[in-house]
Amino acid sequence: MTIVDTRSPDPKKFIKGATGDWEIVIGMEVHAQVTSEAKLFSGASTSFGNDPNANVSLVDAAMPGMLPVINEACVRQAIRTGLGLKAEINLKSVFDRKNYFYPDLPQGYQISQFKQPIVGEGTIHLDMKDGEQVEVGVERLHLEQDAGKSLHDQHPTMSFVDLNRSGVALMEIVSKPDIRCADEAKAYLTKLRMILRYLGTCDGNMDQGSMRADVNVSVRRPGGEFGTRCEIKNVNSIRFVGQAIEYEARRQIGILEDGGEIDQETRLFDSVKGETRSMRSKEEAHDYRYFPDPDLLPLEFSQELVDEIAAGLPEMPDEKKARYVDELGLTPYDADILVAERVSCDFFEDVAKGRDAKLAANWVINETFGRLNKEGLDVDSCPITAQQLGAIIDLIKAGTISGKIAKDLFEIVWSEGGDPAQIVEERGMKQVTDMGAIEAAVDEVIAANADKVAQAKEKPSMIGWFVGQVMKASRGKANPQAVNELLKAKIGIE
Ligand code: ADP
Ligand code: MG
Repeated sequence: MTIVDTRSPDPKKFIKGATGDWEIVIGMEVHAQVTSEAKLFSGASTSFGNDPNANVSLVDAAMPGMLPVINEACVRQAIRTGLGLKAEINLKSVFDRKNYFYPDLPQGYQISQFKQPIVGEGTIHLDMKDGEQVEVGVERLHLEQDAGKSLHDQHPTMSFVDLNRSGVALMEIVSKPDIRCADEAKAYLTKLRMILRYLGTCDGNMDQGSMRADVNVSVRRPGGEFGTRCEIKNVNSIRFVGQAIEYEARRQIGILEDGGEIDQETRLFDSVKGETRSMRSKEEAHDYRYFPDPDLLPLEFSQELVDEIAAGLPEMPDEKKARYVDELGLTPYDADILVAERVSCDFFEDVAKGRDAKLAANWVINETFGRLNKEGLDVDSCPITAQQLGAIIDLIKAGTISGKIAKDLFEIVWSEGGDPAQIVEERGMKQVTDMGAIEAAVDEVIAANADKVAQAKEKPSMIGWFVGQVMKASRGKANPQAVNELLKAKIGIE
């Protein structure tokens, strides 16, 4: 593969060494477990957490004479993912055998795709916190089988093997070496996970191993030749990816500045010590003796199938964000929070439908998500429905309740449930718009504070204090705008 450098060196991302500046170069290989009922080449279940070896067909156990049969659902998921990555879909691809021995790989080879993957080049767009826009190239996406799991902690002298995962479909998504710092690597993984979850093609649960990242790291003089890379295997959290990169880059710089050379090798990240250590020297593709699997025909499908899948794609996070900002007038910051998860934007869209989108975003993000966060709940288990929150917003918009009372109402609906409009009616929470009653309260406050009235004439900003007093006297139910206007008129402020 010839590598093209698509980025120009950015001093903000340089690492200062003893002999000058260094630039980090990162490429990611992400293994994403395909969301499917059955495995890639067998009918065994993919469900997580079953008894060991409960989900193993004769094919997964590699019994003699068993033949793999491709699972169409997995193929559709790979195409869907390719489309979500705006990548080229290959109507013809080939399954190869990647030969190596592993105790939890009964076939003695892994069925993967090598020269002709199902998905070709695509891109992932990153919006960095400082406003920088980064495009990370996707080299390819291919389908392959997962291996089983060796269990070394079940018996003092024996190891066991659990083949439940053996044969489950994985998508390996390989990026180009377009990433230049740990923050970009973390943003890349976050965005990729978001895309997979929007599409429903991988659940993205890194702690259950359904998404794992191999992180390739090298360093070079800014803009110079690419350096020799090390591959850090199976990092299982986004935070650890950041830590592994920071550590590994400094390790390599240390070696190079001492006049040494980097050995191309596979390393492991120790999350307890926060360091990487050598696992094995890097094998090359030719070590695996790849060849087309004679048990499987090339995988071919029609453009019609691709078009059908494309037509069923949901609105993706980048498009959603652009629409929220351009059409609904939300800030990019608020839009980012909402689009982070599909459940979040679905909730927001239900609340905002036919309403003031900015007000809706404010109530969804600050009140609702803020409260969910505090209580450690997620959107799925939110005690307030989108309909209830929408009804509260309608009451504010109609002037039936003030913003302050709305917060009390939110509390009541959050803990007791119920119909917001009915609660307002029954508990006498309606805003007082009866000018007579407001005027009486205003007169009372003015009469009791003659000294402050004199001061307010000099310093009009003191009006706020008066509004506060009247609001307090009305227990929050007076219409603050009416109070404000009346006070100004009576005190004589412009
Ligand atoms: P392999 O399949 O042997 O792991 P590839 O050439 O397909 O090798 O590259 C794997 C990953 O390594 C890709 O994500 C690629 O972007 C990344 N990569 C390649 N060269 C470098 C480099 N010099 N520094 C950092 N990452 C690199
Ligand atoms: Mg690799």
